[in-house]
Amino acid sequence: MTTTLASPTQSYIAREDAWGAHNYRPLDLVVAEAHGAWVTDVEGRCYLDCLSAYSAVNQGHGHPRLLRALTEQAARVTLTSRAFRNDQLGAFCKDLAQRCGMDMVLPMNTGAEAVETAIKAARRWGYRTKGIPHDQATIIAFTNNFHGRTTTLVGFSSEPTYRADFGPFAPGFVLVPFGDLDAVQAAITPHTCAVLVEPIQCEAGVIIPPDGFLRELAALCRAHDVLLIADEIQTGLGRTGRMFACDHDDVVPDMYVLGKALSGGFYPVSAVVSRREVLGVFEPGSHGSTYGGNPLGCAVAREALAVIDDERLVERSAALGAWLLRQLETLRHPAIKAVRGRGLMCAIELHEAARPYCEALQAHGVLCKETHGTVIRLSPPLVASEEDLAWAVEQLRGVFAA
Ligand SMILES: *Cc1c(COP(=O)(O)O)cnc(C)c1O
Repeated sequence: MTTTLASPTQSYIAREDAWGAHNYRPLDLVVAEAHGAWVTDVEGRCYLDCLSAYSAVNQGHGHPRLLRALTEQAARVTLTSRAFRNDQLGAFCKDLAQRCGMDMVLPMNTGAEAVETAIKAARRWGYRTKGIPHDQATIIAFTNNFHGRTTTLVGFSSEPTYRADFGPFAPGFVLVPFGDLDAVQAAITPHTCAVLVEPIQCEAGVIIPPDGFLRELAALCRAHDVLLIADEIQTGLGRTGRMFACDHDDVVPDMYVLGKALSGGFYPVSAVVSRREVLGVFEPGSHGSTYGGNPLGCAVAREALAVIDDERLVERSAALGAWLLRQLETLRHPAIKAVRGRGLMCAIELHEAARPYCEALQAHGVLCKETHGTVIRLSPPLVASEEDLAWAVEQLRGVFAA
């Protein structure tokens, strides 16, 4: 026997690689189904999902309530465009605004579009309310940020991989080191309209800022009439053990940017949530999106928010996350440099490349993805059971057996 038959997994991979652009480097498993915290591949192998589609499936895969909301709404009407009103948009905006303690919602689809929307709102507010001279507004962001992949957003990324040969980039952004309040203070000028921050830098490797940083940042912004934009696309909606990661510092930003778990993995829904004074800068025609605010997305997102409340996912994230972090702290292995976490956003930082460890964990039935080269992020769905997580810890002990 000299010919080897390709496994089903290999043939799926070969076809995808032949016909799809190679802008990702996924782990070599091909998912066929997923329910709750568990996924099954095309060969019937089961894995505990410890990535949750970058925290988009906080509510767990295929949540039955979201499936019902999706199919019932899909049978009624899916898309009107904003040329006409639909009977779902108002209720979604009201639910989300009230949850955020804000006045208004501007719905979009992907996270990157919502960040772009926040940038537009901040600049207009800067010109029309703060009185910044035309086309002079600047926004302060942080090194190692991740806000999405549009040309404007990668233009102020500090990560060469995200930027290389995509320029020229939009001006108007200033980068300062994450967590460095003095640097923010020094960067603020009369032309600064906003500071854009991730309360925890998840893609950068789950970087948690120094205690009090967000609180002092919010005070600094207030003192200088600068808007604080919190990109909570990954940290929001329970992931860090509070509804928003800003809550850990008792901070209410001027704008929340939300996405990912806002629709529990069923449909891309993102939003900017803010005060009337800020989102009021948009008049008809000044911004839009064909799918933004569509009835299907609105129905799913409302249910996704209700599931977070009804299943007490924020409290679960806090309790399970605290337990998981304590377990991670007991791992002893020469490759481990540090462990950290807040709620169910946990990470193991290594002295070496994390990819081989993620592949070893995959072989043990645990799915996670390296981030920033040397960090293993552990962010299982918030519906994972205590037993699921205890099992994951056993697998980690197997991989990190010193
Ligand atoms: C994922 C993410 C984005 C981008 O969201 P997309 O839906 O991929 O465009 C922006 N900011 C943060 C913090 C994210 O985690």
